[in-house]
Amino acid sequence: MKVAIDGPAGSGKSTVAKQIAKKRNLSYLDTGAMYRSVTFTCLEQGIDLTNTKDVIAVAQSIDIRFEQGEAGQRVFVNDVEVTSQIRTAQVDQNVSTVAAIPQVREAMVELQRKSGEKIDVVAEGRDIGTVVFPNAEVKVFLTADASARAHRRAVEREGGNAAKQDVATDSVQEQQILEDIVRRDKIDSTRETSPLVPAFDAIHIDSSNLSVDEVCAQIEKLMDKAAAKKASELQTGATIDTSSVVEQQSVASKDTGELYYETKVQDFPLHARIFLKVLVVLCNAYTKLKYRWTIENLETLLTASANRGVVVIMNHVSFLDPFLPACAMILAGRSLRPIYKDDFNRFGILHWALPRLGAIPVARGTADIKALRRAQRALQKGESILIYPEGTRIRKPDQIPQIHGGFALMAKMAKADIIPMAIVGALDITPPGKHYPRPKKVYCRVGEPLSFKDIKAKGRKEQVVEMERVATQKMYELRDQLRAEHPGRK
Ligand code: C5P
Repeated sequence: MKVAIDGPAGSGKSTVAKQIAKKRNLSYLDTGAMYRSVTFTCLEQGIDLTNTKDVIAVAQSIDIRFEQGEAGQRVFVNDVEVTSQIRTAQVDQNVSTVAAIPQVREAMVELQRKSGEKIDVVAEGRDIGTVVFPNAEVKVFLTADASARAHRRAVEREGGNAAKQDVATDSVQEQQILEDIVRRDKIDSTRETSPLVPAFDAIHIDSSNLSVDEVCAQIEKLMDKAAAKKASELQTGATIDTSSVVEQQSVASKDTGELYYETKVQDFPLHARIFLKVLVVLCNAYTKLKYRWTIENLETLLTASANRGVVVIMNHVSFLDPFLPACAMILAGRSLRPIYKDDFNRFGILHWALPRLGAIPVARGTADIKALRRAQRALQKGESILIYPEGTRIRKPDQIPQIHGGFALMAKMAKADIIPMAIVGALDITPPGKHYPRPKKVYCRVGEPLSFKDIKAKGRKEQVVEMERVATQKMYELRDQLRAEHPGRK
């Protein structure tokens, strides 16, 4: 059996993983110690960590060995013991930078897979359930609030027992540890290659107010369940329906919404995929019949999004707007993730449904980095994003919208093209002051893809600003063309 325990620094992964491995007679794999070993070796050799070529060379040639000693696990690099040297503040400060280098990760993941390949193991790290052992029978995402995690690390540094939270520590040192943890978490969870994110089917456990024994008991329960399931499957010869495992586990998870933002829509659990398909088919049939909508140049959009994610921007006048490109694209086999304002999450049903439809919430009026990163990762996985630069529905044709430029930054971060699109006629369905929808025809038009390659400005920031201007202008040009061709329509 493979048990994957992921989570941020100081969440208790090591303590818990070691205890379970010992009790259940499994091997223990500390993947953090491997990234620490690479970092320590680079520092010792005086390698400038910004010189990624040299760091990669160390990672690709390093020999890391673990040995079980009286006082716990010992770590050896090229046959020299480094058990305590890899836990210094200097290594703490630099390890996340080293671990963010894709080739370093590649080399470490290969070693980790090799060492755990044929054995039963409890492995802990940041990407065990997502990358190293994605088929692990038990996946846990262990968290705790940052101050509790800093306190544990401070107690450990002073040689105390981190399991006893009431031990006094040096408050200045604890503050420094807290800052380091927050900084490392940020680098770990925002890096491009295998960031610290929960696996889709991981069970979340918050250890802030739990003892080590309580956390272990929860994980062992999951292990027993997984073992019993495997045994009964072997007995009946039944095939493993992984979608139902995912379903059961994610329902048990406290934070189900979060999981849908990081997983490709096509890998969602079965119930969510059926929900999305049924909704799209019904919506498409109903809206086509009632509003006879058309999307001109749809082919341009489908071609641009065939092999890579694109950012679709559109003017916004009614609740109908997102359904039209979503129906057209999803029925043509594309993934489209609409960005929606997180105010909608106040409504229970929407809070449940929107993530399952692939939508990503954004906190309006703030630089919502989390939303930007989620969108970036989706784009990099080949999924497209639908976003309204106007931020909210513009209910009067002469209203001057305030443009939110996040879409251009998102596209820049993911190296994606932007497709401008416009809608006209949807405002006539329920004009301001009217409540009941009227059967009015709706027109959409897709423009040509806009690429950063064609943006003349120098400098990243200037390019983003210029793209925002050009793309918004194109979007309004398309809208005005449609208005001119269908006089009186809004
Ligand atoms: O777990 P530990 O705090 O020892 O990990 C040290 C660092 O190694 C982490 O902050 C992270 O940057 C990196 N790491 C990683 N992937 C893993 C394990 C650790 O990126 N699987």
